Amino acid sequence: IPVDPFDLVIFGGTGDLAQRKILPGLFRRFVAGQMPAESRVIGAARTELDSAGYREMVVEAIREFGGDFTYTDKQLKDFLGRIEYTPIDALGDAGWADLQELMKGKGRTEAYYFSVSPALFGELAERLQQWGMADRDARIVVEKPFGRDLESAHALNATLATYFNEDQIYRIDHYLGKETVQNLMAVRFGNMLFEPLWNAQFIDHIQITVAETVGVGGRGEYYDKAGAMRDMVQNHLMQLLCLIAMEPPARFAPDAVRDEKLKVIRALDPVLPHHIVRGQYLAETGNEEKMPSYREAVGAPRSRTESFVALKTHISNWRWAGTPFYLRTGKRLSARSSEITVVFKETPHSIFGEDAGRHRNVLSIRLQPNEGITLGVTIKEPGPGGMRLIDVPLDMSFAEALGQDAEQVDAYERLIMDVMRGNQTLFMRGDEVEAAWAWTDPIIQGWEARNDVPKPYDSGSAGPDYANELMRRDGREWREVT
Ligand code: NAD
Repeated sequence: IPVDPFDLVIFGGTGDLAQRKILPGLFRRFVAGQMPAESRVIGAARTELDSAGYREMVVEAIREFGGDFTYTDKQLKDFLGRIEYTPIDALGDAGWADLQELMKGKGRTEAYYFSVSPALFGELAERLQQWGMADRDARIVVEKPFGRDLESAHALNATLATYFNEDQIYRIDHYLGKETVQNLMAVRFGNMLFEPLWNAQFIDHIQITVAETVGVGGRGEYYDKAGAMRDMVQNHLMQLLCLIAMEPPARFAPDAVRDEKLKVIRALDPVLPHHIVRGQYLAETGNEEKMPSYREAVGAPRSRTESFVALKTHISNWRWAGTPFYLRTGKRLSARSSEITVVFKETPHSIFGEDAGRHRNVLSIRLQPNEGITLGVTIKEPGPGGMRLIDVPLDMSFAEALGQDAEQVDAYERLIMDVMRGNQTLFMRGDEVEAAWAWTDPIIQGWEARNDVPKPYDSGSAGPDYANELMRRDGREWREVT
């Protein structure tokens, strides 16, 4: 379904995110017919370039990061015809008059994507207002990180609120744009099968793992000031936790959904110090090419920043009291894998006797790679061996089930189109972000107060063994990171 024609200004339009995600994503929507041909994409950044130079950069970005999809030369040419560029300084007046000129002649949806350092978010909002571009119907898209603690997030919300209403602000968490995440809601609220069992009475525990194989790469300077708790847990893992744990909203509508998510965050228990493990990766030596340790990568030989976190928490409400939630994320782990695992309780009694084995249903929601949902069910082992039970997966792999018809849409593409539709459901509201920081802050402050040193772990492992211990103490285990 095409959206209405729009003008999208990308502040930071020459940056890494714009090149890897935003521009190729827009092109794919253009080719799919969703981005109307009258729309315009306007790059605005500090880089001195003209529109022709920017279009060359866009072509390169599409070639390098567009993925394998087919398009014609004419489609590319038409798309480039919709691209403009204007150099601009968020911290000064340079370029603003030109942008103002470009944005004259309204009638189209207007959106401004803040794909720049968070230090510039407030400046951009203020200048948009100064130069008359902060109309009531303009939209701003704000990248992560949204603050580094409750105080800074609150201040940023207050600054943005000076110039824009909450319904104009789209705070991106690209995890919410993933197909499987929306499918999680379809599965939960579109079936009679799951919701009656979706509580502490039937669910033993829930695990959320976001494992990466990459290290900090070129983001060392930023990352060392943030760490996994701020960079991943406060936003991405927290959002997944909300969707898995929230009460059914009355409608699939922005505030109905976000109200329910907020209640989950507010019901989270504080994390006890012995329920959380931080880790930091060591160098990888086995391979020919030596991969640096975390400390080498960030150039800080005594860094105490964590590249791994595993924790246990509870949600203190009627639905979840007694069901632990285990969250885990880290860099340089054995595999790239994001998965939510719902482990149901054992049956109360085995009619087949203890020899048959006792089994648990496990629902696993896989975000990457191989997006899909699998439900493990227990059946009889085929053959003459008597009543022995085995687990088999009921696989809801989307690619397989839906075949060629399943259109692959990247999270960023989907979210940008949602901005143009004016649909905020998959964006974080200001109070949600602040509530998540209010839960995260004491954890980080505790580490700082104790001068906590993260546990070292081998690159290519599943993290420090202490994380396994966290589970073992409870008689449980993590799903293997594969
Ligand atoms: P980048 O450093 O690659 O690009 C920064 C962009 O900002 C450039 O286009 C630069 O010209 C522009 N810029 C810098 N100072 C400016 C100023 N004073 N006035 C106008 N423009 C200015 O950064 P990036 O990796 O593209 O990240 C952009 C934002 O997206 C950041 O908030 C980052 O945290 C967030 N983000 C990035 C990624 C990623 O994968 N790169 C992922 C998630 C979030």
